[in-house]
Amino acid sequence: MRSERLFDRITSIDIDHVTKRYGEVYAVRDVSLSVRGGELLSLIGPSGSGKTTTLRMVNRLIEPDAGAVRINGEDVRAHDPVALRRNTGYVIQQIGLFPHMTVAGNIGLVPRLEGMDPGSIGARVRALLSLVDLPPEHFMGRYPSELSGGQQQRVGLARALAMDPPLLLMDEPFGALDPLLRVQLQQEFSTIKEELGKTIIFVTHDIEESFALGDRIGIMRDASLVQVGTPQDLLFSPASSFVEDIVGGSRKLRHLEHVTVRDVMVPLGAGAMLDGDMGASDALAHMERLDLDTAAVSGRSSPGMVRLIDLYRAPTDATLEDVLRDVPVFSPSDALAPALRTLRDAGLAAGLVMEHDIVTGVVCMDCMVLELLS
Ligand code: ADP
Ligand code: MG
Repeated sequence: MRSERLFDRITSIDIDHVTKRYGEVYAVRDVSLSVRGGELLSLIGPSGSGKTTTLRMVNRLIEPDAGAVRINGEDVRAHDPVALRRNTGYVIQQIGLFPHMTVAGNIGLVPRLEGMDPGSIGARVRALLSLVDLPPEHFMGRYPSELSGGQQQRVGLARALAMDPPLLLMDEPFGALDPLLRVQLQQEFSTIKEELGKTIIFVTHDIEESFALGDRIGIMRDASLVQVGTPQDLLFSPASSFVEDIVGGSRKLRHLEHVTVRDVMVPLGAGAMLDGDMGASDALAHMERLDLDTAAVSGRSSPGMVRLIDLYRAPTDATLEDVLRDVPVFSPSDALAPALRTLRDAGLAAGLVMEHDIVTGVVCMDCMVLELLS
């Protein structure tokens, strides 16, 4: 059955005085929120504050007891729920790939159900895998059990994008990943987001993540929305002490000049430091086994970093020395602000930290934002 294309672009999503109760418990209580076309609105709040319920009322997985949700001015109840969901990408933490289907089968599932022709589906699957940094030739035929956690999450995102929905709903999509991988995926996602120009509602309980990704941030507490604004609004004009506590860092932010690289660096995990003479294919096997997306490399002249994606593309006889990416190297005592500018000017997400000629950690743009807020 082919679903109708409900909207080509989103101009607005209006959540209008919406309430959802379970018995005596309000999951969401009189919440009003407008999302603009093309923005990423991040919903953040403690567990049980009503984030998931709010999100699921947008694609009618949950129906409100009172109030209405309108997309482009039209009440979502006017749309068939199945059509609405096929016009909306939905990404959750437990991505739920079908284990008996290959990666290509999983991503192409809805396009198949929608009757898209096989040639177009194949082309679409390849394009989406490239978009999420998984080389199609290596991944189309794999099964979910042959993927790391981060790779599964990427396939989940590709699947959600299969029908090119103008609206993406994401519920803690990176919540189960380890911190470095999470930062990596956030960084990639932030690039994809710019490329796609979609409207996104992104639920998280992680303030760092919401600051890294959100154009605006909505803060929820006890079934209510307590403040919506840009990161700057929340930092400098918190509406309550609760918001101040969640955002936390305004005092620290004003003292940026005293923060050093040491304060924000992430220590290198076990096995994440590789020798430049190592063969690229050995390194690939090693990193896949440890579920590492990025590793540091001690090169002949200076250290660098290597990403899994570089290794898939490397010639079979390459060594890590051949494929490493040069990155800025900092010392723990370096002031953070200039380090931040160096990374930004170089267009890089991360740099290395060296102490006494030994690489001991990684410093990344997002880690800095995160640390400033903690
Ligand atoms: P969050 O995503 O912010 O953690 P939820 O939207 O999942 O919060 O839940 C908000 C509140 O509603 C919680 O107190 C939760 O226990 C309650 N709740 C959510 N779904 C149900 C349900 N199906 N039955 C009963 N209570 C529910
Ligand atoms: Mg939730």
